[in-house]
Amino acid sequence: MTETVGASKVRFDKSLGSFNRLWSMFRETKDRIERSESKVIAKWRLFPPEVVYALGAVPYDLLLHEGFTETTVRSIETAGHALEAGLSADSCLWNISATGRVLSRRDSVPVDIFLAAAGLCDISSKSWRIMSRNMGKPFYSMETPIFNANSEERATSFIQEELASVFERLGRRLGYEYSERRLLNEIRRGNVVRKLLLDITTLLSREPPPLAALEYFIAHTTAGDYLQEPDALATILADINREAEARVKQGVSPPEIADKPLRIYYVGEAPQDLRFWNLIENSGGVLIGCDTYLPLFYELIPETGSPMRNFARWIWMMPHHMPSLDRAKTLIPHIKRQRPDAVIIGNVMGCRNLALSDRIMKETFREELGVPVTSIDFSSSDEDVALLEPHIRSFIEMCR
Ligand code: SF4
Repeated sequence: MTETVGASKVRFDKSLGSFNRLWSMFRETKDRIERSESKVIAKWRLFPPEVVYALGAVPYDLLLHEGFTETTVRSIETAGHALEAGLSADSCLWNISATGRVLSRRDSVPVDIFLAAAGLCDISSKSWRIMSRNMGKPFYSMETPIFNANSEERATSFIQEELASVFERLGRRLGYEYSERRLLNEIRRGNVVRKLLLDITTLLSREPPPLAALEYFIAHTTAGDYLQEPDALATILADINREAEARVKQGVSPPEIADKPLRIYYVGEAPQDLRFWNLIENSGGVLIGCDTYLPLFYELIPETGSPMRNFARWIWMMPHHMPSLDRAKTLIPHIKRQRPDAVIIGNVMGCRNLALSDRIMKETFREELGVPVTSIDFSSSDEDVALLEPHIRSFIEMCR
């Protein structure tokens, strides 16, 4: 069944009943934050939401919710708001779209505070600053050092200090006192969601994989902010997990999956246009994993010992903090577990994070996984995704 999302027609697997509930919850995110009685903190997508929950506020994965559910945001008029405000035209499309959308209705956006992840995505940090300045809302940031296997002790202590400083400064503004007990509580709630996302991901390693690409992609993006209600989300994810498990037992695959599809693992930033995920199946493939939000659930955060210390170490080990080669090597066991036939690396125009490491990633995956790898670029055109079909189709044909 197809549904219009912004300007695009995308195909959902309506036979997966529990996903319909997730999709409704996803689409109601903006209403939910408007109704929120707690302060809303806009965070960069891979900034761990526990930090915000532990302060009694609600996190908002602004790029996700403002950037892609309405693909009409690509309109020049909306982007103009971002460019006029000072965001450079060669920024990534997620930031241009989301910043433009937020600034075009600045008085009605219920964001109270902008929290950036310094050093990880400089473009997002810049757009967060621009939005905060234009809306007269406070801006905070937290720095995470780039991973270096020899500096665990120093890096973990540094992250601990950064976390303590964020809790202190934000806590003062929010009138909320940080406590280890609260952090541990949020880590536990987050672990429930993480565990479910890991379980669902494991099911994709089975034959046939029980979820279609779009449904898995949406489910795994919920790691960004747990959709403001981690407990309610966990109930839905548990149902998705159960339904997917039943499909695996019965050998049922989602509709529209080709016979003997090519098993594809996706690495990189996601395109804004949801039709991309349908395209994988239209071209004879099936998605068996995706690393876009994996850094938020790559493993559980330990629940015994010092919560702050455990949390800091877990943040340090998040794959997207790593230089290209370390990142590729860290991803390999996750990808291997999904038993891929091929890997697709996606580059978003204007994103410097992956584009610079594309070659290293490709070579490392080819060597260590022994499967074909291709990379694709998402540009700014609305026709962009449709134009990728010949590339993906011929790649899949070639891999057979
Ligand atoms: S696509 Fe790249 S530049 Fe844009 S938000 Fe993601 S990491 Fe940052």
